[in-house]
Amino acid sequence: MTMSAPTRLPVPRPGVLDIEIYVPGESKLPSGVTPIKLSSNESPLGPSPAAIAAYRDAAGALERYPDGQASLLRQAIARRYGLDPDRIVCGAGSDELLSLLAHAYLGPGDEAIYTEHGFLVYRIAILANGATPVVAPERDLKSDIDAILARVTPATRMVFLANPNNPTGTYIGIEEVRRLRAGLPGNVILVLDGAYAEYVRANDYEAGIELVATTPNTVMTRTFSKIYGLAALRLGWAYGPPEIIGVLNRMRGPFNVSEPGIRAGVAAMEDAAHIDAAAAHNDRWLPWLTDEIGRLGIGVTPSVANFLLMHFPADGSRNADAAEAHLKSRGLILRRVKAYGLPHAIRLTVGTQAENRAVVAALAEFMNGHTA
Ligand SMILES: *Cc1c(COP(=O)(O)O)cnc(C)c1O
Repeated sequence: MTMSAPTRLPVPRPGVLDIEIYVPGESKLPSGVTPIKLSSNESPLGPSPAAIAAYRDAAGALERYPDGQASLLRQAIARRYGLDPDRIVCGAGSDELLSLLAHAYLGPGDEAIYTEHGFLVYRIAILANGATPVVAPERDLKSDIDAILARVTPATRMVFLANPNNPTGTYIGIEEVRRLRAGLPGNVILVLDGAYAEYVRANDYEAGIELVATTPNTVMTRTFSKIYGLAALRLGWAYGPPEIIGVLNRMRGPFNVSEPGIRAGVAAMEDAAHIDAAAAHNDRWLPWLTDEIGRLGIGVTPSVANFLLMHFPADGSRNADAAEAHLKSRGLILRRVKAYGLPHAIRLTVGTQAENRAVVAALAEFMNGHTA
């Protein structure tokens, strides 16, 4: 044994240590009081009862590996949306599919674009693969197609677009999305993240199914975590051209989706009445919250999703820190969005009727200066 050289330690690939760890919406209060959690855009109606029953049924065979193709789930999705099941791949949340896309198509020297207040998972996926994140400014908290196109270089390989976006709740119409696709080089993958697509009522909105079907370089990701109320199960899917879906199938874990997840997902997809009820609930309470909160003198960004963004003054006693503290004193946990470049905003998820009324009551107290 000779004296060793200075200790050499494992080092991750460049970019990894630049990642800021994703901080999920809070779910606990220091007081130990059971909170009302409106911080993660979860469904106030919960999952379909049929999905819960299917999940429980699956408990009878936990020693078995799941169907690695998730065939029943892909078929259920394909039936509901009129798609080819061979162009669908399922994942452990759409987060896994976003990561796999980045892993397959991005590396050192490549650039990938997302928008100024875009979903932070994109940045993580880009950096994790040693690629360079490029941020396109938004206009009035909306994705700006011209700003995205202006940032395309020969190194660009991917554009991530959440539509509607989280945490802003804004969307761009399908004509703008088509203009984006048309303006991007053919070797750039456009990833359309439609996590909130089921909630949108705007006539000029489409999640992008037709664009995926008619172009060789567009992918749509969707989730069971939001309107389907199955966030705990980690279930998402992507629809794309056969070549890209084939790439994701090569790279994914062979059993990346669990059997209880597959079973519950199928039942959730087939329960159209439950999905309609969740959408109808949002149709009623999103405008109510927007109006009531606006009437209190709090700025609200018009949203088409199941959450909305409130804006507080940067200074003074009615700033976002004070609002958050007051809401917490009333047992209400919302979502701060400092990491999204919005230090004076707070995101509110549409809750149950009682939860929505509790939020408005607490905000009214706050704005009227009754902060016990
Ligand atoms: C919640 C959300 C998702 C869904 O993530 P899962 O991994 O499927 O739970 C994807 N994109 C955006 C923009 C979201 O807000």
